[in-house]
Amino acid sequence: MKHENKVVLVTGAGQGMGKAMACRFAREGAKVVAVDVNPDAASATAAQCGNGAIGIGCDVSDSAAVKDAIALAVNTLGRLDVLVNNAGVGSVDQLLDTPDEHWTRVIGVNLTGTFYFCREAARVMQGNGGCIINVSSTAVATGEGPSHYVASKAGVMGLTRSIARELAPLGIRVNTLVPGPTNTPMMAGIPDEWTQAMINAIPLGRMGEPEDIAAVASFLASADAGFVTGQNIAVNGGMAFL
Ligand code: NAP
Repeated sequence: MKHENKVVLVTGAGQGMGKAMACRFAREGAKVVAVDVNPDAASATAAQCGNGAIGIGCDVSDSAAVKDAIALAVNTLGRLDVLVNNAGVGSVDQLLDTPDEHWTRVIGVNLTGTFYFCREAARVMQGNGGCIINVSSTAVATGEGPSHYVASKAGVMGLTRSIARELAPLGIRVNTLVPGPTNTPMMAGIPDEWTQAMINAIPLGRMGEPEDIAAVASFLASADAGFVTGQNIAVNGGMAFL
Protein backbone atom coordinates (compact mmCIF):
# COMPACT_ATOMS: atom_id res chain seq x y z
CA MET A 1 0.00 0.00 0.00
CA LYS A 2 2.78 2.42 -0.94
CA HIS A 3 0.37 5.17 -1.99
CA GLU A 4 -1.97 4.93 1.00
CA ASN A 5 -4.08 8.08 1.43
CA LYS A 6 -2.36 9.95 -1.39
CA VAL A 7 -4.63 11.73 -3.86
CA VAL A 8 -3.58 10.80 -7.41
CA LEU A 9 -5.06 12.48 -10.49
CA VAL A 10 -4.66 10.66 -13.83
CA THR A 11 -5.74 12.25 -17.11
CA GLY A 12 -6.96 10.13 -20.02
CA ALA A 13 -8.00 7.58 -17.40
CA GLY A 14 -11.01 6.27 -19.32
CA GLN A 15 -9.07 3.50 -21.06
CA GLY A 16 -5.60 2.22 -21.97
CA MET A 17 -2.58 3.16 -19.88
CA GLY A 18 -4.44 5.84 -17.93
CA LYS A 19 -7.01 3.34 -16.72
CA ALA A 20 -4.28 0.84 -15.78
CA MET A 21 -2.39 3.54 -13.85
CA ALA A 22 -5.54 4.70 -12.05
CA CYS A 23 -6.41 1.14 -11.03
CA ARG A 24 -2.87 0.39 -9.87
CA PHE A 25 -2.67 3.54 -7.72
CA ALA A 26 -6.06 2.66 -6.20
CA ARG A 27 -4.90 -0.91 -5.44
CA GLU A 28 -1.88 0.60 -3.71
CA GLY A 29 -4.06 2.71 -1.43
CA ALA A 30 -4.50 6.01 -3.29
CA LYS A 31 -7.68 7.99 -3.67
CA VAL A 32 -7.88 8.40 -7.44
CA VAL A 33 -9.22 11.25 -9.54
CA ALA A 34 -9.94 9.76 -12.98
CA VAL A 35 -10.09 12.53 -15.59
CA ASP A 36 -11.15 11.93 -19.18
CA VAL A 37 -12.70 13.87 -22.03
CA ASN A 38 -15.41 11.16 -21.93
CA PRO A 39 -17.16 11.68 -18.56
CA ASP A 40 -18.82 8.25 -18.62
CA ALA A 41 -15.45 6.56 -19.12
CA ALA A 42 -13.98 8.64 -16.27
CA SER A 43 -16.82 7.58 -13.97
CA ALA A 44 -16.48 3.93 -15.00
CA THR A 45 -12.78 3.94 -14.15
CA ALA A 46 -13.49 5.63 -10.81
CA ALA A 47 -16.11 2.99 -10.01
CA GLN A 48 -13.62 0.24 -10.86
CA CYS A 49 -10.96 1.88 -8.66
CA GLY A 50 -13.22 2.22 -5.60
CA ASN A 51 -11.59 3.55 -2.41
CA GLY A 52 -13.35 6.94 -2.77
CA ALA A 53 -12.23 7.55 -6.36
CA ILE A 54 -14.04 10.21 -8.35
CA GLY A 55 -14.43 10.64 -12.11
CA ILE A 56 -14.31 14.03 -13.80
CA GLY A 57 -15.10 14.85 -17.42
CA CYS A 58 -12.55 17.36 -18.72
CA ASP A 59 -10.89 18.21 -22.02
CA VAL A 60 -7.28 18.81 -20.99
CA SER A 61 -6.82 21.35 -23.80
CA ASP A 62 -9.44 23.65 -22.21
CA SER A 63 -7.70 25.90 -19.67
CA ALA A 64 -10.87 26.81 -17.74
CA ALA A 65 -11.97 23.15 -17.60
CA VAL A 66 -8.56 22.16 -16.21
CA LYS A 67 -8.81 24.80 -13.45
CA ASP A 68 -12.30 23.50 -12.59
CA ALA A 69 -11.12 19.87 -12.55
CA ILE A 70 -8.26 20.57 -10.15
CA ALA A 71 -10.55 22.66 -7.92
CA LEU A 72 -13.18 19.89 -7.86
CA ALA A 73 -10.54 17.26 -7.03
CA VAL A 74 -9.05 19.29 -4.18
CA ASN A 75 -12.43 20.38 -2.81
CA THR A 76 -13.67 16.77 -2.83
CA LEU A 77 -10.58 14.87 -1.69
CA GLY A 78 -8.78 17.60 0.24
CA ARG A 79 -5.36 17.63 -1.43
CA LEU A 80 -3.36 16.60 -4.49
CA ASP A 81 -0.17 14.54 -4.18
CA VAL A 82 0.41 13.06 -7.64
CA LEU A 83 -0.53 14.23 -11.14
CA VAL A 84 -0.15 11.93 -14.17
CA ASN A 85 -0.50 13.77 -17.48
CA ASN A 86 -1.38 10.79 -19.64
CA ALA A 87 -4.16 12.04 -21.95
CA GLY A 88 -2.95 12.04 -25.53
CA VAL A 89 -4.14 11.92 -29.11
CA GLY A 90 -2.50 11.16 -32.44
CA SER A 91 -3.39 10.81 -36.09
CA VAL A 92 -1.64 9.36 -39.12
CA ASP A 93 -1.04 12.55 -41.14
CA GLN A 94 1.93 12.94 -43.47
CA LEU A 95 3.56 16.39 -43.22
CA LEU A 96 2.47 17.60 -46.66
CA ASP A 97 -1.16 16.69 -45.98
CA THR A 98 -1.44 17.79 -42.36
CA PRO A 99 -4.40 20.14 -41.89
CA ASP A 100 -3.85 23.10 -39.54
CA GLU A 101 -6.58 21.85 -37.23
CA HIS A 102 -4.88 18.45 -36.76
CA TRP A 103 -1.63 20.20 -35.79
CA THR A 104 -3.48 22.50 -33.39
CA ARG A 105 -5.46 19.65 -31.81
CA VAL A 106 -2.51 17.29 -31.24
CA ILE A 107 -0.31 20.05 -29.80
CA GLY A 108 -3.30 21.36 -27.83
CA VAL A 109 -4.06 18.06 -26.10
CA ASN A 110 -0.60 16.52 -25.75
CA LEU A 111 1.52 19.58 -24.95
CA THR A 112 -0.72 22.50 -23.97
CA GLY A 113 -2.99 20.22 -21.93
CA THR A 114 0.05 18.91 -20.05
CA PHE A 115 1.17 22.50 -19.40
CA TYR A 116 -2.28 23.52 -18.09
CA PHE A 117 -2.43 20.60 -15.66
CA CYS A 118 1.18 21.09 -14.49
CA ARG A 119 0.54 24.77 -13.78
CA GLU A 120 -2.70 24.23 -11.89
CA ALA A 121 -1.39 21.23 -9.96
CA ALA A 122 1.80 23.04 -8.94
CA ARG A 123 -0.33 25.88 -7.57
CA VAL A 124 -2.06 23.51 -5.14
CA MET A 125 0.97 21.27 -4.46
CA GLN A 126 3.29 24.12 -3.46
CA GLY A 127 3.94 23.97 0.26
CA ASN A 128 2.95 20.27 0.46
CA GLY A 129 5.38 18.75 -2.06
CA GLY A 130 4.16 16.42 -4.76
CA CYS A 131 4.99 14.52 -7.89
CA ILE A 132 4.15 15.05 -11.54
CA ILE A 133 4.56 12.39 -14.25
CA ASN A 134 4.24 13.54 -17.86
CA VAL A 135 3.74 10.89 -20.55
CA SER A 136 5.78 11.27 -23.74
CA SER A 137 6.67 8.66 -26.38
CA THR A 138 9.65 6.68 -27.70
CA ALA A 139 8.68 8.17 -31.08
CA VAL A 140 10.70 11.23 -29.98
CA ALA A 141 13.85 9.08 -30.11
CA THR A 142 13.06 7.18 -33.30
CA GLY A 143 11.21 9.91 -35.23
CA GLU A 144 8.73 7.23 -36.25
CA GLY A 145 5.48 9.10 -35.97
CA PRO A 146 3.62 12.05 -37.47
CA SER A 147 5.18 15.49 -37.08
CA HIS A 148 2.56 16.97 -34.76
CA TYR A 149 2.65 13.93 -32.45
CA VAL A 150 6.44 13.70 -32.23
CA ALA A 151 6.79 17.47 -31.80
CA SER A 152 4.17 17.48 -29.03
CA LYS A 153 5.89 14.63 -27.18
CA ALA A 154 9.34 16.27 -27.55
CA GLY A 155 7.75 19.40 -26.10
CA VAL A 156 6.57 17.39 -23.10
CA MET A 157 10.18 16.38 -22.39
CA GLY A 158 11.35 20.00 -22.54
CA LEU A 159 8.47 21.19 -20.38
CA THR A 160 9.32 18.51 -17.82
CA ARG A 161 13.00 19.47 -17.63
CA SER A 162 12.22 23.16 -17.22
CA ILE A 163 9.63 22.79 -14.50
CA ALA A 164 11.57 20.04 -12.69
CA ARG A 165 14.27 22.64 -11.98
CA GLU A 166 11.75 25.35 -11.14
CA LEU A 167 9.60 23.21 -8.83
CA ALA A 168 12.40 21.30 -7.06
CA PRO A 169 12.75 23.97 -4.33
CA LEU A 170 9.03 23.50 -3.63
CA GLY A 171 9.57 19.76 -3.09
CA ILE A 172 7.76 18.83 -6.31
CA ARG A 173 9.42 16.19 -8.52
CA VAL A 174 8.61 16.09 -12.24
CA ASN A 175 9.59 13.27 -14.61
CA THR A 176 8.72 12.10 -18.11
CA LEU A 177 7.53 8.53 -18.53
CA VAL A 178 8.35 7.43 -22.07
CA PRO A 179 6.42 4.38 -23.31
CA GLY A 180 7.25 2.41 -26.40
CA PRO A 181 4.53 0.67 -28.44
CA THR A 182 1.95 -0.50 -25.92
CA ASN A 183 -1.13 -2.64 -26.26
CA THR A 184 -3.98 -0.12 -25.77
CA PRO A 185 -7.07 1.02 -27.71
CA MET A 186 -4.87 3.73 -29.30
CA MET A 187 -3.00 0.96 -31.14
CA ALA A 188 -6.07 -1.13 -31.93
CA GLY A 189 -6.57 0.09 -35.51
CA ILE A 190 -2.98 -0.50 -36.63
CA PRO A 191 -2.53 -3.13 -39.37
CA ASP A 192 -1.01 -6.43 -38.23
CA GLU A 193 2.11 -6.02 -40.37
CA TRP A 194 2.89 -2.65 -38.74
CA THR A 195 2.44 -4.21 -35.30
CA GLN A 196 4.79 -7.05 -36.24
CA ALA A 197 7.37 -4.55 -37.54
CA MET A 198 7.21 -2.72 -34.21
CA ILE A 199 7.65 -5.95 -32.25
CA ASN A 200 10.65 -6.84 -34.45
CA ALA A 201 12.24 -3.52 -33.39
CA ILE A 202 11.83 -4.25 -29.66
CA PRO A 203 14.74 -6.26 -28.20
CA LEU A 204 12.55 -7.79 -25.48
CA GLY A 205 10.37 -9.16 -28.29
CA ARG A 206 6.89 -7.95 -27.37
CA MET A 207 4.67 -4.90 -27.14
CA GLY A 208 4.34 -3.22 -23.78
CA GLU A 209 1.24 -3.84 -21.70
CA PRO A 210 -0.58 -1.05 -19.82
CA GLU A 211 0.48 -2.69 -16.55
CA ASP A 212 4.17 -2.32 -17.55
CA ILE A 213 3.60 1.43 -17.71
CA ALA A 214 1.52 1.54 -14.52
CA ALA A 215 4.27 -0.25 -12.58
CA VAL A 216 6.84 2.41 -13.48
CA ALA A 217 4.39 5.25 -12.81
CA SER A 218 3.83 3.78 -9.35
CA PHE A 219 7.59 3.67 -8.76
CA LEU A 220 8.10 7.26 -9.96
CA ALA A 221 5.36 8.49 -7.62
CA SER A 222 6.78 6.58 -4.65
CA ALA A 223 9.32 7.52 -2.00
CA ASP A 224 11.73 5.07 -3.68
CA ALA A 225 12.06 7.64 -6.49
CA GLY A 226 12.55 10.52 -4.05
CA PHE A 227 15.86 11.59 -5.68
CA VAL A 228 14.62 11.30 -9.27
CA THR A 229 13.49 14.45 -11.04
CA GLY A 230 13.73 15.95 -14.53
CA GLN A 231 14.39 12.55 -16.14
CA ASN A 232 13.14 10.68 -19.17
CA ILE A 233 12.25 7.18 -17.95
CA ALA A 234 11.78 4.88 -20.94
CA VAL A 235 9.54 1.79 -20.73
CA ASN A 236 10.00 0.39 -24.21
CA GLY A 237 11.61 -3.07 -24.05
CA GLY A 238 14.95 -1.60 -25.18
CA MET A 239 13.59 -0.18 -28.46
CA ALA A 240 15.53 3.09 -28.06
CA PHE A 241 17.65 4.83 -25.44
CA LEU A 242 16.66 8.25 -24.09
P1 NAP B 1 -5.73 5.65 -25.54
O1 NAP B 1 -6.02 4.20 -25.40
O2 NAP B 1 -6.20 6.36 -26.75
O3 NAP B 1 -6.29 6.42 -24.24
C1 NAP B 1 -6.16 7.81 -24.13
C2 NAP B 1 -7.29 8.35 -23.27
O4 NAP B 1 -7.15 9.79 -23.25
C3 NAP B 1 -8.67 8.04 -23.83
O5 NAP B 1 -9.54 7.65 -22.79
C4 NAP B 1 -9.09 9.37 -24.44
O6 NAP B 1 -10.48 9.57 -24.47
C5 NAP B 1 -8.43 10.35 -23.49
N1 NAP B 1 -8.33 11.67 -24.09
C6 NAP B 1 -8.08 11.98 -25.39
N2 NAP B 1 -8.12 13.31 -25.56
C7 NAP B 1 -8.37 13.85 -24.35
C8 NAP B 1 -8.53 15.17 -23.90
N3 NAP B 1 -8.46 16.21 -24.73
N4 NAP B 1 -8.79 15.38 -22.59
C9 NAP B 1 -8.90 14.34 -21.74
N5 NAP B 1 -8.77 13.06 -22.11
C10 NAP B 1 -8.50 12.82 -23.41
O7 NAP B 1 -4.18 5.93 -25.42
P2 NAP B 1 -2.98 5.13 -24.68
O8 NAP B 1 -2.36 4.24 -25.68
O9 NAP B 1 -3.44 4.59 -23.38
O10 NAP B 1 -1.95 6.33 -24.48
C11 NAP B 1 -1.79 7.04 -23.27
C12 NAP B 1 -0.64 7.99 -23.44
O11 NAP B 1 0.54 7.28 -23.80
C13 NAP B 1 -0.86 9.02 -24.56
O12 NAP B 1 -0.33 10.26 -24.13
C14 NAP B 1 -0.06 8.45 -25.72
O13 NAP B 1 0.34 9.45 -26.62
C15 NAP B 1 1.10 7.83 -24.98
N6 NAP B 1 1.79 6.76 -25.70
C16 NAP B 1 1.09 5.66 -26.14
C17 NAP B 1 1.78 4.64 -26.79
C18 NAP B 1 1.11 3.38 -27.25
O14 NAP B 1 1.76 2.60 -27.96
N7 NAP B 1 -0.14 3.12 -26.86
C19 NAP B 1 3.18 4.77 -26.99
C20 NAP B 1 3.83 5.90 -26.54
C21 NAP B 1 3.13 6.89 -25.89
P3 NAP B 1 -11.30 9.20 -25.82
O15 NAP B 1 -10.99 7.79 -26.14
O16 NAP B 1 -12.73 9.43 -25.44
O17 NAP B 1 -10.80 10.15 -26.87
